[in-house]
Amino acid sequence: MKEDYYSGLRRDMLRHQIAARGIKNPRVLEAMSRVPRHLFVPERLADRAYDDSPLPISDGQTISQPYMVAWMTELLEIAEAAKVLEVGTGSGYQAAILCELAGEVFSIEKYPDLARAAEERLSILGYDNLRIRVGDGTLGWPEEAPFTGIIVTAGAPSVPQPLLEQLADGGRLVIPVGPAGMQMLNVIRRHGNDYRASDEGNCVFVPLVGKFGWKRGRVF
Ligand code: SAM
Repeated sequence: MKEDYYSGLRRDMLRHQIAARGIKNPRVLEAMSRVPRHLFVPERLADRAYDDSPLPISDGQTISQPYMVAWMTELLEIAEAAKVLEVGTGSGYQAAILCELAGEVFSIEKYPDLARAAEERLSILGYDNLRIRVGDGTLGWPEEAPFTGIIVTAGAPSVPQPLLEQLADGGRLVIPVGPAGMQMLNVIRRHGNDYRASDEGNCVFVPLVGKFGWKRGRVF
């Protein structure tokens, strides 16, 4: 049966791409074992959904590599009651992983058709602890702030100030920062008015555009 086939691919993905590269948090591994990634990619790419790479979705955007999703999620250290903001809904796959782990998830996407498709997919899969909004995620979601975790799934030129302000005391922001072609994955921890950043490693993301992101045409 096709579902058994995809479950097998998912098990291999977890073993060879994710656990093998050092992801240990059992809640993250469990979440990644539950979410059917093949339903988040264009149908013609379903058989490649568990490959060790990002894949194209629509509007020139991508669903991130499985390991990247696992790594960023682990760095967020999500508690069960957490309120998490994602910037860059894309396919909705990362949002589904967040829904498995957090109490409430808010996700912002700039392309309306991607946001609509993700919303439909996530609702069919039964996730009811999520809201998606179309807009500029570099402005955050002030009406719902503060967030215990914020994850940005596109490469930023610098850390958007509104996201720092919307981070809860004790919260964590995970964000790729740097030029197109190669960014550094940053984790920023807030303690009162003190923000501590650490560099976690290199990554490559599509650009974060918007008021506090790249300006169109000035990415490269
Ligand atoms: N998290 C996604 C997933 O699981 O499929 C992958 C995200 S893709 C690498 C980056 C996404 O960020 C794209 O869908 C892009 O349209 C979106 N994006 C870029 N700039 C944005 C902004 N300012 N606000 C909201 N979304 C943005």
